[in-house]
Amino acid sequence: MAHYTLRCVECGQIYDDSDKGFLLDCPENHGPSMLQADYSVPGFEPVETAKGFYRYQHWLPIRRTFARAPKTVVFQSDAFCDRLGLENLYFAFNGYWPEREGGMPTCSFKELEAASVLARIPKGEERTIVVSSAGNTGRAFLEYASQFKINTMVVVPEFALPQMWTTVPKADCVKLVVLKDADYFDAIQLANHICELEPFFAEGGAKNVARRDGMGTVILAAAEAMKTIPHHYFQAVGSGTGAIAAWEMAWRLMADGIYGQWLPRLHLSQSESFTILADAWAAQSRDLPEIPEDEARAAALKAYSPVLSNRKPSYSLTGGLFDAMSECAGLFYVPTDEQARKAGELFQELEGIDLDKAAQVCLASLFIAKENGALGEDHAILVNLTGGGAERAHADGIVIPATPDYVFTKAQDNLDDIRKVLGL
Ligand SMILES: [Zn+2]
Repeated sequence: MAHYTLRCVECGQIYDDSDKGFLLDCPENHGPSMLQADYSVPGFEPVETAKGFYRYQHWLPIRRTFARAPKTVVFQSDAFCDRLGLENLYFAFNGYWPEREGGMPTCSFKELEAASVLARIPKGEERTIVVSSAGNTGRAFLEYASQFKINTMVVVPEFALPQMWTTVPKADCVKLVVLKDADYFDAIQLANHICELEPFFAEGGAKNVARRDGMGTVILAAAEAMKTIPHHYFQAVGSGTGAIAAWEMAWRLMADGIYGQWLPRLHLSQSESFTILADAWAAQSRDLPEIPEDEARAAALKAYSPVLSNRKPSYSLTGGLFDAMSECAGLFYVPTDEQARKAGELFQELEGIDLDKAAQVCLASLFIAKENGALGEDHAILVNLTGGGAERAHADGIVIPATPDYVFTKAQDNLDDIRKVLGL
């Protein structure tokens, strides 16, 4: 018996994950819904001796832990507190920052996802897990799967190839697949088709509870440092998974009660060139706006931050982003590219480390929220800087570029050609 069960948010049915293996969806016949994990340890009990985010293993749907684990750095910046006139402002930095023991050398919070999902796979699983990514997730899976020798295939659109690198040598059991002239959604589609073949199985994206609860540990690390559940939580979103994860984890903390009994208000952001989530929320609609595919594809390709340009985010389904935002009366921001760039420059100047573009968008939204009067001087505020330190990692020479093992054209996205290219 595992230390958790899975519960369907729509119908309430409960499943034993050890029975079903790697359950991603409720088998009942109803509309799309999240499964959530219920843990047998209901209280917040960090494991002091565990590495990195495995400290929160009682609230992770995992079957084992690894010798290496990512760690979120939570800190208060005097410079930003002064500048914004906020007493209780904290940053959660997820990336590479040697001076602060920033324990995510692949420079994004997707390491929390990879190290959690891979630890959910039972020991002795011989099949290959397939992950699609627009960049950061793929890099994190390449890194951790290589370190721990877990059969993994990462599928990315060609534009993401420059971001495919590791800090440990890529293992033979880890394969990188590149899809030419494609966007993220095309890569997801190819990955889905690959999963129809033996010996592959789908990682599942936002529907994988390990992915969400891994990322949700940012809230736990923050609550420990801040000694409170934050009143406000800032994050830039693409699929919305990280924000859903924060919301779900805040629920568990609230039920425990030691750090307060409230949920944070979600303050989410997208860059001005791609605003599908911001638009749906502005219209107070559970449905995403209908955008012609060509138009969406073109907008995604020129977005300030490609990871914020997911055309099919986890918004409408039960337990998805619309529900999370509704429950906390969340707010959406659309900083201009210029505002994002300036926020990034300011952070580099005051704190001495680079932020990735998604984190720049998020930081810019903090300034807008302050201007709009959405933040009280003494409110506990958490800004989730979801990626940073890549420039520094390159300068420090820790980066090993990954070369593709297989290259697909979109015309080859069919089972016959997939078999041929992969040599099955
Ligand atoms: Zn159900």
